[in-house]
Amino acid sequence: MSTARFEQIALVGIGLIGSSIAHAARRAGLADRIVGSARTAATVEKALQLGIVDEGFPTAAEAARGSDLVVLCTPVGICGVAAKEIADAGAFRDGAILTDVGSVKGAIVRDVAPHVPAGVHFVPGHPIAGTEQSGPESGFAELFDNRWCILTPQPGCDAAAVARLKAFWEALGSQVEIMSPDHHDRVLAITSHVPHLIAFNIVNTAGHLERVTDREVIKFSAGGFRDFTRIAASDPIMWRDVFLNNKEAVLEMLQRFSEDLTALQRAIRYDEGDTLHRLFSEARALRRGIIEAGQDTDAPDFGRRIAAPPPGKTCKDKD
Ligand code: NAP
Repeated sequence: MSTARFEQIALVGIGLIGSSIAHAARRAGLADRIVGSARTAATVEKALQLGIVDEGFPTAAEAARGSDLVVLCTPVGICGVAAKEIADAGAFRDGAILTDVGSVKGAIVRDVAPHVPAGVHFVPGHPIAGTEQSGPESGFAELFDNRWCILTPQPGCDAAAVARLKAFWEALGSQVEIMSPDHHDRVLAITSHVPHLIAFNIVNTAGHLERVTDREVIKFSAGGFRDFTRIAASDPIMWRDVFLNNKEAVLEMLQRFSEDLTALQRAIRYDEGDTLHRLFSEARALRRGIIEAGQDTDAPDFGRRIAAPPPGKTCKDKD
């Protein structure tokens, strides 16, 4: 039996990430059975209809019972509540691995670890892969292919459990890196959390501008704004929980961002063209580094294809 294979995987939360884990695990043959729970009966029903789970339950405890891998795939703020519910019901299987996919790691360790009984191995995780879509219908097997997954085991955690979860994520298509929760939260603050905050903010700023009508914001969105709107379409509950649970690192990175923005403002005000050219060139070089690392393609328009317009319409969605 491959170390990456489990008898029963329980997905607590069956949205984009939970359902993508199910699809990728089935593709690689990593589970005899996949079960799941969600907040609403509608999501559980949908996951059953789509064949994402073999059995669905109304509670995390029922899904976790008998599972040798439990993956918490809810918003960050719910992970501790779910772990407590499973522990209080005595539903953790002895020797099981408990993990999560939350975008923040320090707060997950703080909230989940106190509820993990002896004999259960808690290995927090975060796949650095996603889209702006939510719900069980949005998942797909390729989501994790060639993406990174970060694991943040605590000191003293069972090495075999960490190795097994690492093998699992590799079999889902990811490359795995291990780091401390604090380091994770600082890195993700600048690579993911602050960029999302900027997107939410710029989209709202444009939305609040009275002189730019809604029509103009939409019509001319391909000038750069549109890519922010895609990021800003991400789930508001998920992102509320990310910012409430990674305050320190986000506020530190925002401070740095504001200082750099002030430098740009100054360069514009005083016609410092050389400064602007140098800073933009540095940013462009970073983009090349991301492409060379295989984390995006160099296809124009961020690699997105524009859907063919409906019959009788012309495609206006172009730069
Ligand atoms: P999602 O599509 O919105 O799915 C969230 C799931 O959690 C749904 O099944 C939802 O059930 C369930 N849930 C919500 N509140 C709950 C509660 N109070 N009790 C029990 N279940 C609850 O979200 P997602 O994008 O998969 O994100 C899940 C986790 O992955 C988050 O922690 C996020 O930080 C992390 N993550 C997300 C991305 C991304 O790009 N989206 C990338 C990496 C990591 P209902 O449908 O019934 O409400």
